[in-house]
Amino acid sequence: MPRARTIFLETFGCQMNQLDSELVRGQLGALGYSFTPDASAADVVLFNTCSVREQAENKVLSRVGRIGQRKRQGERVVLGLIGCLAERQGMPLLSRYPQIDLLCGPGELDRLPMLIDNALKTETVDAADRVALAGNRSRRSTTLAAVDDNLELLDLSRAFDPDGGSGRARRSAYVRITRGCNKFCTYCVVPFTRGAEVHRTPDAIVQECRRLVDGGVVEITLLGQTVNHYVYTHGAAIGVNGQEVPQVGPGGSAFTRSGPHPANGQRVTTFADLLGRIHEEVPSLRRLRFVTCYARDFGDDILRVMRDCPRICRYLHVPAQSGSDRILRLMNRGYSCGEYLDFIDRARDLLPDVSIAGDLIVGFPTETEQDFEQTAHLLRRVRFKNNFIFKYSPRPGTTAWDRLPDDVPTEVKRQRNNDLLALQSTISTAVHAEQVGRTVEVFVEGVSRKGVPTAPGGVELAWERPRGRIQMSGRTAGDLITVFTLPQGRTPESLEGQIVPVRVIEAASLVLFGCLEASTRPLAEQMTVVPKGDGLRPRLPSLKCPKPLTLHLD
Ligand code: SAM
Ligand code: SF4
Repeated sequence: MPRARTIFLETFGCQMNQLDSELVRGQLGALGYSFTPDASAADVVLFNTCSVREQAENKVLSRVGRIGQRKRQGERVVLGLIGCLAERQGMPLLSRYPQIDLLCGPGELDRLPMLIDNALKTETVDAADRVALAGNRSRRSTTLAAVDDNLELLDLSRAFDPDGGSGRARRSAYVRITRGCNKFCTYCVVPFTRGAEVHRTPDAIVQECRRLVDGGVVEITLLGQTVNHYVYTHGAAIGVNGQEVPQVGPGGSAFTRSGPHPANGQRVTTFADLLGRIHEEVPSLRRLRFVTCYARDFGDDILRVMRDCPRICRYLHVPAQSGSDRILRLMNRGYSCGEYLDFIDRARDLLPDVSIAGDLIVGFPTETEQDFEQTAHLLRRVRFKNNFIFKYSPRPGTTAWDRLPDDVPTEVKRQRNNDLLALQSTISTAVHAEQVGRTVEVFVEGVSRKGVPTAPGGVELAWERPRGRIQMSGRTAGDLITVFTLPQGRTPESLEGQIVPVRVIEAASLVLFGCLEASTRPLAEQMTVVPKGDGLRPRLPSLKCPKPLTLHLD
C-alpha cells in the first residue's frame, strides 16, 4: 500500500481563515491525506495566509523563505500558499519565490486537492495546473444565483466530527453564513481577495448547525464580514436540481434601520429571521453568537430577536474604526460617529447587559491629533469591553493606497496605538469590575495557556490559591475571558467543553478571576424554583470562594 502523504497546515489571520483551514483539513483527510504538526516531516506544507496588514504577509513570506532553504538543500516538499495573500499577490509570487509550488485563493479552495495532486505527481507543471485564483474571473455575478459555486460544496462537505479526529472534544464551531464583502472600505483588501458578498441558503445553515450540535458542539459562531447584511430572497436563485442555491448579496442600499426593504413581495429570510430559526430549530444548541457586525443597517428586528432568545449571546463585535466623521468618510465606512453611537444606544436600550467589542485603526492617512482625540472620546463614551487596535497599513490595490498619502509618521502611529491601548485597558478593567461578586456562565475552553495574565505596568494579578494548581480558562456569554482554579479531584478534561457557573472574585483588564461554583451543572439547571409570595424566584446554591485578590509586584 502506498504511504499516506502528510500535510502540515498553518493558519494565519481571522476566523474565516480558521474555518477555511478546518474545511480544507476535512476535504484532504477524506482523500486519504494525514496531517502532521511538524513541518519538517511533511510531504506538503500549506500556509493559509492573511493579507489584511503588511505584517501578516511578511510573517508568511519569512516562512516561505525557510522552506526555500530546505528545498535548496535537496529536500522534496510541496509548498502551497492558500488564502488572501495568494489571491492578492497572485502569479508574481511564483517568479519571486520559485520554491512555491501552488497558489490557491480563498474563493477557489474546492480546487486545492487537484493542485496538490498535480504538484505531488510531477515537478514541472503548467501554471494553469498549479494556480487557482479568482483574479478577474471573480465570482462576482450579475445574476442573483451564485450557481457555479462549488465552494458551497466545501462548506456542505464539512466533517461533523466534533473532536476533529484528534480524540479531544472540540465543542465550539464556526458556521459561515456569508462569503466575501461588498463594502469596499478604502483601506481594506477583503473585497478583492474574497470577492463579492454571497449568502448561503438558510436551510443549509440551519442543517449545518443541527448536525454540528448532534455531533456534540455546544457553541456556534456565525461568520460573515457584515453579518447583519445577511438576506436571502427565496425563489430568486434556483440551481439545476431545483434547489435554492447561494445568492449574491443586494448591497447596503437594500437596508433600512428596521431591516431590509421588502423585495417586490418576495419572501426573504433576514439575519433576524435566520437567528430566530437557528434558535428554534436547534434547541440543543447552548450558545449562538455571530461576528462581525456593521454599525449601519443593524435593524431593531435583530436586537429584538437577541432579547427574546435566551441562548443567543448578548455580545456585539461592532468595529467603529474611528471616532472622527472626517476619517470615517475617507474610510468609506458609510456612517458617522453620531450614527455609530445611535446604534450603540439602541442596542443598550433593548439589551441593557449587552457586551460590546470593536476594532479601531490609528494613523489612517491625514489623521490629526483632533481626529485621534475624537476616537479616544468614542472609547470613553461607548465603554467597549475590548477593542482590537491596529496601526494603519497601506495595502496595494485599495483606494486608500491609490489616493491617500500614508502621511502619519510611524512613530506617531505607534504612540497613538499605545495611548489607545492604555485607555482601553482602563475601560476594560472598569467593565470587568462590574462582574465581581456575580456568578457567570463560563464555556470552558481548556487549561489556561498563559497562567495568570499580567496587567500593564508589570503588575501580576493573582489571588491566593494553592500553588501549582491548574488554571482553567473560558468565556462568558458576553465574551469575557474567565480564569478559575481547577478544583481538587477534577481533571481538565471533565470540564473542557462544558458551560459551568463561576463566581467572579476579581477583575483585571483582560480577564476575570473566579472560582467554580459548588456544582458544575449549568447555571440554569441549578436554579431551584421556590415559591415566594406573589411569584417564583430562583435560588442558587451558595458557596465559599477563596479569599480575594492580592497584588504581586514584580
Ligand atoms: N468586516 C469587518 C468590519 O467591517 O469591521 C472587519 C474585517 S477586517 C478583516 C478586520 C479588521 O482589520 C478591521 O476591522 C480593521 O480594523 C482592520 N484592518 C483592515 N484593513 C486594515 C489596514 N489596511 N490597516 C490596518 N488595519 C486594517
Ligand atoms: Fe473590509 Fe470594510 Fe468589508 Fe469589513 S466591511 S471586510 S473592513 S471592506
